[in-house]
Amino acid sequence: MTKPVILAVDNDADLLHALEQDLRRKYGEQYRVIGADSGQSAIEIVRQLKLRADVVALFLVDQRMPGMTGVQFLTQAIKDFPQAKRVLLAAYADTEAAISAINEVQIDHYLIKALEPPEERLYPVLDDLLEEWFAGYHPRFEGIRVIGQKWSPQAHRVKYSLARHQIPYQWLDFETEAEARALVEHAGQAGQLPLVLFPDGSHFFNPTLRQIGEKLGLKTRPQMPHYDLVIIGAGPAGLAAAVYGASEGLKTVTIERLAPGGQAGCSSRIENYLGFPAGLSGGDLARRAVAQARRFGAEILTPQHVTKIRLNGQYRVITLSDDSEINCQSLIIATGVSYRQLEIPGLNHLTGAGVYYGSAMSEEMYCRDQDVCIVGAGNSAGQAAMYLSRFARCVRLLVRGDSLAKSMSQYLIDEIARTPNIVVQLQTRVIEAHGEHHLESLTIVNDQTAQTATISTVALFIFIGAMPLTTCVADLIECDERGYILSGADLTLNGCRPRNWPLERKPYLLETNVPGVFVAGDVRHGSIKRVASAVGEGSIAIELIHQYLGRV
Ligand SMILES: Cc1cc2nc3c(=O)[nH]c(=O)nc-3n(C[C@H](O)[C@H](O)[C@H](O)COP(=O)(O)OP(=O)(O)OC[C@H]3O[C@@H](n4cnc5c(N)ncnc54)[C@H](O)[C@@H]3O)c2cc1C
Repeated sequence: MTKPVILAVDNDADLLHALEQDLRRKYGEQYRVIGADSGQSAIEIVRQLKLRADVVALFLVDQRMPGMTGVQFLTQAIKDFPQAKRVLLAAYADTEAAISAINEVQIDHYLIKALEPPEERLYPVLDDLLEEWFAGYHPRFEGIRVIGQKWSPQAHRVKYSLARHQIPYQWLDFETEAEARALVEHAGQAGQLPLVLFPDGSHFFNPTLRQIGEKLGLKTRPQMPHYDLVIIGAGPAGLAAAVYGASEGLKTVTIERLAPGGQAGCSSRIENYLGFPAGLSGGDLARRAVAQARRFGAEILTPQHVTKIRLNGQYRVITLSDDSEINCQSLIIATGVSYRQLEIPGLNHLTGAGVYYGSAMSEEMYCRDQDVCIVGAGNSAGQAAMYLSRFARCVRLLVRGDSLAKSMSQYLIDEIARTPNIVVQLQTRVIEAHGEHHLESLTIVNDQTAQTATISTVALFIFIGAMPLTTCVADLIECDERGYILSGADLTLNGCRPRNWPLERKPYLLETNVPGVFVAGDVRHGSIKRVASAVGEGSIAIELIHQYLGRV
């Protein structure tokens, strides 16, 4: 834990040096002693300390300094550290100024500048003050701080990404917290919110996810130009492929545009995955899988985006979002699906500002004791309802059909029925969203009675089916009419080999219309849309890749 700071300020270099030594000898174990040789340099130090979330316990300041007096310095510094104890060092001639400073900046003590021996003239006063300060001291949060406006989509994007990478952060609301406004001012007010502050004091205004990732030491660039296997997507299918590929000796890299875990990473509790009788969160599953894949030597690049693939003889060439390229012998497309958009008036501009797709996590603090709505009737909607019911006053599950049983597992239906603050409204659709800067209310219609109603709500979570993510492979890979990737026997249904298929043999199971390019998980035509099946396909694909590479 970072030590609280004692800041000594004196323009007399010899005196400052002696004072620092005395302070370090007595208090160095518990406090960090910093010296400044002028009021101006001390102001800069205070600014840096504030940005790094350090805490000042004590200011020990000479009154008579050129450019800025001790009282002038304290007047500014205590705005940032109002709890810090303040001691003014004064010559006999400055006693008057020191006494009036008691009122001006509420100094706790003034000491005449004859501090030798410190055991008699310095420590007794500081011991008392520091003991008193320490009694009211609560160690500050030391991680990343995100400062922004409550309903800002940009702030949501940053918080969501940090949450998905399981990086703890503290949220400070610019509109309601003076501390947040002070930090923005210290950071220079140079840019657009959100402001992201790192523990070392560095910061970004409205950063890209790659900027944050690189700052946090996440790997976004490959180590080598060539791999045996590239996997696009680090959901359950991609992560399973990474574990099996790397553990079986393939030089493997997985590329993930958001955060490892995929859709499963958005799940608050997966209860039907083999081996976890009490369930586990998607975040936990992703963390374990990433550790396992890395242990076997797989590289995971995130956040990084594949924009295109092309062929170059026997190699598959992958283009990344920064236009750099990686070559590989074999490729697995495990890009999964993304949530379908709800097309109703008033909704688009509120996405990220009260309207969220596919995940109920990262915004739960704004749902605390509020009324919230969910659209959808699948397991993901049911899990979100259970999760939000722990925070929200009331969760309305708005379902277009006349029953949950068609699309939701029975265990979730039973849990929902037992939860008093979840209301299920069947045969109900949202037809309009209202709110200027954030969601305020929804108009809903009951399809049985044709009655409409407007309900107040701070958040709408949407889980209404999915679309395959295939843009990056669209030019090369054959898909069905809904965009899901065809593979194996699905490509040869009419007995013919796929268009432009260059080999004598037919495509292997999970192999696409391009030899050596495989597909696994939800993005595959005919997939089951479950964690276990995605994991299974990711693992099987490795065996087939060995066959393709002629190693078995
Ligand atoms: C909220 C929720 C709860 C769920 N609960 C359960 C449950 O309890 N039990 C269960 O069995 N199933 C559950 N599912 C379904 C399950 O999560 C999915 O079936 C599974 O995640 C599919 O895995 P996948 O690897 O095929 O795809 P995904 O999980 O969709 O992962 C694909 C990954 O590829 C990345 N990607 C896409 N395009 C690119 C690109 N161009 N470049 C780089 N990366 C890219 C995406 O960002 C994503 O991370 C749930 C789904 C959701 C959304």
